[in-house]
Amino acid sequence: MPNPLYDAFFRPHEENDRPFLHLKDGTGLSYRAFLAMTARYAHALRENGVAVGDRVALQVKKSPEALAVYAACVAAGAVFLPLNSAYTPAEIDYFVSDAEARILICDGAAEAALAPVASGAGATLLTLNADGSGSFAAAAAGMAERFDVAERKAGDLAAFLYTSGTTGRSKGAMLTQKNLLSNALALVDYWRFSADDVLLHALPIFHTHGLFVATNVMLLAGGAMIFLPAPDIDDLIASLPRATAMMGVPTFYTRLLADPRLTRESAAHMRLFISGSAPLLAETHVEFEKRTGQRILERYGMTETNMNTSNPYDGERRAGTVGFPLPGVELRICEPESGAEVAAGEIGVIEVRGPNVFAGYWKMPEKTKEEFRDDGFFITGDLGTIDSDGYVTIVGRSKDLIISGGYNIYPKEVELVLDEQPGVAESAVIGVPHPDLGEGVVGVVTAKAGAELDVEALLAGLRDRLARFKQPRRIVVVDELPRNTMGKVQKNLLRERFALIFR
Ligand code: ATP
Ligand code: MG
Repeated sequence: MPNPLYDAFFRPHEENDRPFLHLKDGTGLSYRAFLAMTARYAHALRENGVAVGDRVALQVKKSPEALAVYAACVAAGAVFLPLNSAYTPAEIDYFVSDAEARILICDGAAEAALAPVASGAGATLLTLNADGSGSFAAAAAGMAERFDVAERKAGDLAAFLYTSGTTGRSKGAMLTQKNLLSNALALVDYWRFSADDVLLHALPIFHTHGLFVATNVMLLAGGAMIFLPAPDIDDLIASLPRATAMMGVPTFYTRLLADPRLTRESAAHMRLFISGSAPLLAETHVEFEKRTGQRILERYGMTETNMNTSNPYDGERRAGTVGFPLPGVELRICEPESGAEVAAGEIGVIEVRGPNVFAGYWKMPEKTKEEFRDDGFFITGDLGTIDSDGYVTIVGRSKDLIISGGYNIYPKEVELVLDEQPGVAESAVIGVPHPDLGEGVVGVVTAKAGAELDVEALLAGLRDRLARFKQPRRIVVVDELPRNTMGKVQKNLLRERFALIFR
């Protein structure tokens, strides 16, 4: 029976003996073995009452088995709902109830804490441990290695992926088979992935980056992945010589750069380094090229849309930009309120339309309506510009825009100048309530190793560089910026922390 996603990603590998995953302990898994596990798991889902269209929630450590649950959901026509392994039972309660999951698969260690959550939500609780054991694995053990794949159409739901919650409560993005397939097809082609590639995979698989961008691309290309449980620096360094490509968040690159073992030789075997999920500092891009001779390719996407833009494979990979709209993706820059396109080179909100764009937020019809224009463009909430060569640059999120004394201030502009000051490692610029100005600008900075930061000197350094209204009224030095698992700076936490600084 037709199932576009299964037919593109999985069916071609049922008889494929090439390696799919290389694991940290030196063992590996062929495509054939992975597909056999997928079939067993799909039977186990059915046996546990999962019907076509049901949600299957999964909160486990990263493992080949966890990926097989994704594959089994596609085969069984279920909606895959991966959950951040750091979520507490109280948080899981929200997602599992909100999504009305039929089953919840968790790590054995969390079973007792999640039992009341599952029963409250009416979900069956099963376990799957990082070593492949657990009640779900046991249920699958004797099952057949072929499964009668459920019929699905391109517009049917394949996954609910909750957003990272960087700006507020996570929203469940409903992703269709077409959303995932169209994007993987575009990326394999754009980034030239083939069966000869070995992708260094150290990302989590509950987020779009590690799950859909990395995994779907490799499934479609038929290459292998060095599948690491975490971005441990020793593992990354040790794996580089065997890999041909890596997808990482910017912190992977800053961590690699901080290690003297990253050299031109250690990276010589790589054909492609890709960065995304958070802004890559232009400085990181430049230093990485100096050290390794390789230019990182930065791309931009989000849970709701998969990938939207990418720097080119062959052309200039321009530091500080996210490149061009991917084939099939329409992108425009608009005034947030009116939705009218801004003049060339002006800043506005990035809007996208295409087969990559999700079907809406689960059970949030009002929110969904607000985020789409009448002509079908999705309002990303990211602010950006397009330069005369067509490169898109992200200047921040609309929720982080500061309005002080009636002026718009784009935090990124101030951050770029702060980052250039001697001794500054990185910065985050936020707006917090100010009695006269509405919002006052606060610069939060961290020091480079061994540097002492003098706030007065920093303020003086900004004076000739930025208009008075853009200059932070306060600069605070902190040990580190709060980041979530994807390496995104959590400005909402900084705004809470410094909410009373002008009171
Ligand atoms: P939430 O929507 O719950 O607040 P989130 O937007 O961080 O969380 P994700 O969908 O994981 O959740 O992240 C998408 C966002 O990540 C984009 O909207 C954009 O702000 C940011 N992003 C992704 N890639 C890049 C990039 N290359 N440069 C700058 N920002 C990026
Ligand atoms: Mg978002």
